[in-house]
Amino acid sequence: MRLRHGAASHVGLVRQQNEDSFVAGGGVFAVCDGMGGARAGEVASEVACRFLMEIVPEVDSVRLESTVAQANQAIFLKSVEDSSLAGMGTTLTALVTTEDGVLVAHVGDSRVYLWREGGMRQLTDDHSLVGELVRRGQLTPAQAAVHPHRSVITRALGTDGVVKPDIFPISLEPGDRLVICSDGLSGMVPEQDIARLLGTGEDPQSIAQRLVEAALEGGGEDNVTVVVLVVDEDEGGFPGGTGDAKDQTVREEDNPVFGPERRQASIEAKAGAGGRLERVRGWVGRRRRGLLVVGMVLVLVVFIALGGLALFNSTVYHVGTTEEGAVALYHGMPNTFLGWRMYSLVEVGSIPYASLEQHLKDRVDTHELVSKEEGQQFVRSLVVQP
Ligand code: MN
Repeated sequence: MRLRHGAASHVGLVRQQNEDSFVAGGGVFAVCDGMGGARAGEVASEVACRFLMEIVPEVDSVRLESTVAQANQAIFLKSVEDSSLAGMGTTLTALVTTEDGVLVAHVGDSRVYLWREGGMRQLTDDHSLVGELVRRGQLTPAQAAVHPHRSVITRALGTDGVVKPDIFPISLEPGDRLVICSDGLSGMVPEQDIARLLGTGEDPQSIAQRLVEAALEGGGEDNVTVVVLVVDEDEGGFPGGTGDAKDQTVREEDNPVFGPERRQASIEAKAGAGGRLERVRGWVGRRRRGLLVVGMVLVLVVFIALGGLALFNSTVYHVGTTEEGAVALYHGMPNTFLGWRMYSLVEVGSIPYASLEQHLKDRVDTHELVSKEEGQQFVRSLVVQP
């Protein structure tokens, strides 16, 4: 068998930037749909693709999963280090060739469809709110397609320190066709139309372009990216598979190609310069980021308050009575805070509280905040009357 591929990506008719990225060639095929404010989505999807491009074709599921984990870490760390990239993430749907098919790695709501003998089915589960509701039988696919929260994804790369990708093998047969796509295709073009276009013609690049055109005709509301694979009958194994020298010769390209083309050094691009409104996909990322900010502000406020309180407390003194009933000078306020005494004993006077005249008892009872000198003066002035 032999694999031929085509790929196409378009910003769509509504969005200002294309935050999708793809990889095609050299035995690695992937679509990543980035999300986050400003240009962060572009960065996330590109970082993910760059990691996939490093993968050698003879990959097993352990190696593939660890590559996904590394990409996740890299995106997550970047988003923590650079506030303009905070909360960014991406979907990742990748196919890596094996001896008799492909290995799939999948996170998010980009999709893989397999077309075989005129029928088409989705190989990946959507990690989305509506996808989960459909799997639980609480929503029909038709209801999901128009659901207001259909773009909320429940799993993404880079939004958390760990990620759990779906990893599974698919064996392929000559005549099979595959498409990896972002939701800009699946959300805009009915599945029967995708199936029809996927089965029409022989050139994967033309098929990819026709699919993108269909998404634009369907409204083009999102970035749309497709990678199309056509499996042909041929001698030997897959291009990039673990075959003999013959396999190497059928390989179309030795190196995977990154797309979309126009995007150059977006990894270095600093976000936030433009006036573009932030796009955060769904409440999952937004709420997590919101909680983080609220948490940090609270911690800061508590620190400042505690620091101020401690500072103030260190400057004041008060007069009170010891457990034994003696008048004494204390450092700090006459209070407890979360069970901690805020005061410490400085000096015990020579006279019991009980023997004081009432007006002096009243002065002790007010625990008035005083300076050390004032307090010492008062305590020392209380002497047993002859
Ligand atoms: Mn999208």
